[in-house]
Amino acid sequence: MARWKDILRERCPRCREGRIFRGSPLRGMLSVHERCPVCGLRFEREQGYFLGAMYVSYALSIPPVALLALLFWWAAHWPYDVAILAAFVAYLPAAPFVARLARVLWIHIDRGVDPNG
Ligand SMILES: [Zn+2]
Repeated sequence: MARWKDILRERCPRCREGRIFRGSPLRGMLSVHERCPVCGLRFEREQGYFLGAMYVSYALSIPPVALLALLFWWAAHWPYDVAILAAFVAYLPAAPFVARLARVLWIHIDRGVDPNG
């Protein structure tokens, strides 16, 4: 439970105090500190590190988009392809927030698997 709280508070996986992002979502949506301001843990281990977060973001996005597509198809009786397109458009405003959450999840998953790498 504490781990989920840290993830939702966007805190460092090691010290659980340092903020992962430089600012609020309104200022710099995906701007990650190079190192934890409290314990110095390097967040972006290597170039392209956050590519893994894209897979997490994809996994987080498929269920709601599929649900929206089914809802549009079922409730509005739109053709399936139109319902899918509408679902993607309806989901767009949530995408930056999901991408931010995916980065935090990726850092926590990666540090959980390989804490000293
Ligand atoms: Zn830290």
